[in-house]
Amino acid sequence: MHTATTILGIPVDHLTLAQAVDQMAGMIAAGGAHQVATINPEFVMAAQQNLPFRTVLQQADLCVADGVGLLLAARWQKRPLPERVTGNELLQALAERAAAAGWSFFFLGAAPGVAESAAAALQHSWPALRIAGCYAGSPRPEEAAAIIERVRTASPDILLVAYGAPAQDVWIARCQTTLQVPLAIGVGGAFDFLAGRVPRAPRWMQCWGLEWLFRLLRQPWRWRRMLSLPRFAWAAWQERQRAAQFER
Ligand code: UDP
Repeated sequence: MHTATTILGIPVDHLTLAQAVDQMAGMIAAGGAHQVATINPEFVMAAQQNLPFRTVLQQADLCVADGVGLLLAARWQKRPLPERVTGNELLQALAERAAAAGWSFFFLGAAPGVAESAAAALQHSWPALRIAGCYAGSPRPEEAAAIIERVRTASPDILLVAYGAPAQDVWIARCQTTLQVPLAIGVGGAFDFLAGRVPRAPRWMQCWGLEWLFRLLRQPWRWRRMLSLPRFAWAAWQERQRAAQFER
């Protein structure tokens, strides 16, 4: 059994990439409906104001740490996370396991055509990978019934939802009661990376925890959204200080 650390009210699971994939394999074997979120500091800050989103993350079966800020905050709490688990690496590792195990993927979300390109890119690396379906759709409530019908007909083992947070995670939580896909994961912009629409930061920037800076330089209009990073650092630091006072 793995543990989780709570950062500003949101659980973050202590898992390496390999352990996360093992947990997900267990969910598929168990059947039923599971939800995985790939979270970062922006999620945690959004969840401070957005109570439905907060509840979704608290009730998810796994919240993996896709954000260097979470690793820092966990270290401040003296409960270090083993490593960062990015949505992109998770998809690659899961695809490798799925190709061997025969699990099928459904790619939902992103701009029209991107889900298909992302699926083709993964299948290029693992030709045995089974693709149950691809569809852009939208997280709008009026489209949910038609999308649910489409996914249920395709009957995938794994549903990837790329609508960005919080929409994708709230969408999964709302639809999973009807969908009953063994494993549904919110993957943010991962289809855009896989399809080559958005380049990933160079390796050295990823290693130095500077992926946010790469994103800011490429997509400067994100600056307002990215203010949540220093806000997160400040709130997590204060949380740590309050806990330390309590420990004294
Ligand atoms: N997206 C979508 N429908 C929407 C809003 C967003 O399909 O109504 C897609 C968008 O095309 C992109 C993804 O959701 O592929 C979110 O990307 P972003 O980089 O904003 O996600 P993040 O990883 O920052 O949550």
